[in-house]
Amino acid sequence: MESPDFDSWGRVRRRARASAEPADFRPGAPGGFLPFGNGRSYGDSCHNDQGHLFAMRPGAAISAFDPDTGILTADAGVLLSEILALVMPHGFFLEVTPGTAQVTLGGAIANDVHGKNHHRRGTFGGSVLRFSLLGSDGQSRLCSNDSNSDLFQATIGGMGLTGIIEQASIRLMKVPSANVRQTAFRFGSIDGYFDAIDAIDASHEYSVAWIDQLARGGTLGRGVLMAGDHADDGGPAKPPAAPKLAVPFSPPVNLLNRLTLKAFNALYYGRAPKQPQTGIVPWASYFHPLDAITGWNRLYGPRGLFQHQSVYPSGNARETTIALIECAQKHGAASFLTVLKRFGDVPSPGLMSFPRPGFTLTLDFANSGDRTLRMLDALDEIVIAAGGALNPYKDQRMSPAMFEASFPQWREMEAMRDPAVMSDFWRRTAMVLARAQPSLKQAATA
Ligand SMILES: Cc1cc2nc3c(=O)[nH]c(=O)nc-3n(C[C@H](O)[C@H](O)[C@H](O)COP(=O)(O)OP(=O)(O)OC[C@H]3O[C@@H](n4cnc5c(N)ncnc54)[C@H](O)[C@@H]3O)c2cc1C
Repeated sequence: MESPDFDSWGRVRRRARASAEPADFRPGAPGGFLPFGNGRSYGDSCHNDQGHLFAMRPGAAISAFDPDTGILTADAGVLLSEILALVMPHGFFLEVTPGTAQVTLGGAIANDVHGKNHHRRGTFGGSVLRFSLLGSDGQSRLCSNDSNSDLFQATIGGMGLTGIIEQASIRLMKVPSANVRQTAFRFGSIDGYFDAIDAIDASHEYSVAWIDQLARGGTLGRGVLMAGDHADDGGPAKPPAAPKLAVPFSPPVNLLNRLTLKAFNALYYGRAPKQPQTGIVPWASYFHPLDAITGWNRLYGPRGLFQHQSVYPSGNARETTIALIECAQKHGAASFLTVLKRFGDVPSPGLMSFPRPGFTLTLDFANSGDRTLRMLDALDEIVIAAGGALNPYKDQRMSPAMFEASFPQWREMEAMRDPAVMSDFWRRTAMVLARAQPSLKQAATA
């Protein structure tokens, strides 16, 4: 079966992709399959262009929610937005939510996603109590900390490579209101962020900073910091309004270019409060602001976008952040959305989880071909020199060497991979490394 609907968010490599049913999942086809959630990964970690994708969304449902314990059980294809709609009226919220709620439960586990409260709660995997995992041998295995714990750890952050998560149970957190008491202020340079962030993170559940990536000189790294906590007087948490804005088709050129960005940044920075200002913000605007514009990724035009998300240690984070911003500037690149966050030291349960203690900078670039690729390679070098790592589920182009430096534990993951599963990302990174090490058995057949 062919489907045109399996794009990933970056839309760099668009094509019709073949799908299959979980009933077809068999050991006979090495590397022939990969589960697909809702395509909110940016690159090719959710694709297997030499095989078939399992569409996990159709028919997915929530099977149980206990408002006394806050424990929910659902099919892996259920969206986080659907979970929130059910549990919020009972005063519950996800312990960890990424920047979009249009993500499936299975995708959130498989990428072990993080939110604006990593410094407090770690990753999504920390909320996962158990799941059932279907392997190509036809066995459905219950995985938890106590049962098949090696598979449990390899599947959290395992990018779909261990098999199909069928159903999962997660813990939710009780909140006084889903709405957020936000304290926001602007800072005039990157020093303003790093000087404030320790105290901010010590006293708030959430924090995130928007950075004006085009600002130079004494204002380099200026931005707006938004800290928040669930409000105890936040009023009723309403479901998000249906998106009023939509980008129904891809314009022929990238509309998010240097000119439009410069104007946008000046306006956004200029309107932010100079001194900390506190107020109640509707939960959807705080956690998932971009969900209000359906298909905003199309604004990047037909060639799509690359996201570069790195993490690097705190010790030299200020210098590394400056180096990354200056490098993008030197290459004449404009990042439409630049976000800086702290990752805390709550350990991730996953074998291959991306977050680790330090700071994470996320940059979005329109795809301008080789020019962009050269700049992304230069950014990688800065990240490696700083002892950092690159996010695989935002990636479409990192080199095998960059992957190895970011995830030296990939060999353990390869040993846990279901032989019938493969992704384009894994094929162009881990498999290239594995072929250079013939002792890794599965590599020869994938
Ligand atoms: C606007 C926006 C903001 C974002 N903000 C954040 C953020 O703040 N933090 C963050 O961490 N991420 C963020 N992301 C990335 C996104 O949260 C992750 O990529 C997420 O995992 C995508 O989930 P998905 O359901 O779309 O899965 P897909 O992208 O379709 O797949 C993701 C991975 O999960 C695997 N998978 C999917 N379903 C299953 C299953 N049932 N069993 C086994 N494996 C499965 C796939 O094989 C693939 O490897 C953001 C993305 C966007 C577009």
